[in-house]
Amino acid sequence: MSCPHVSTLAPVAPRTPQGCEECLKTGSGWVHLRLCLTCGHVGCCDSSPNRHATKHVHKAGHPVVASFEPGERWAWCYADEEEVPVPAAVKPYLR
Ligand SMILES: [Zn+2]
Ligand SMILES: [Zn+2]
Ligand SMILES: [Zn+2]
Repeated sequence: MSCPHVSTLAPVAPRTPQGCEECLKTGSGWVHLRLCLTCGHVGCCDSSPNRHATKHVHKAGHPVVASFEPGERWAWCYADEEEVPVPAAVKPYLR
């Protein structure tokens, strides 16, 4: 466990808990949802046509996302390319 990012996060509530922020605007669909633990952006996963979660990571420079799927509890750091523990402060925001 070497990720220096996850312990510095101050998680915020999901901005669009009903789905992917960009897909909701364009009327597109998604497969799974990911939550940015830096700013609360909700984006769609890499199996979705538009991959907004990964695009957000690179555009915004926010490295850590968590699964926003019901019952799933895992987080991933893109910068370190490793799974990281879900911070306790994030858990109330997950589904
Ligand atoms: Zn990291
Ligand atoms: Zn999307
Ligand atoms: Zn973000």
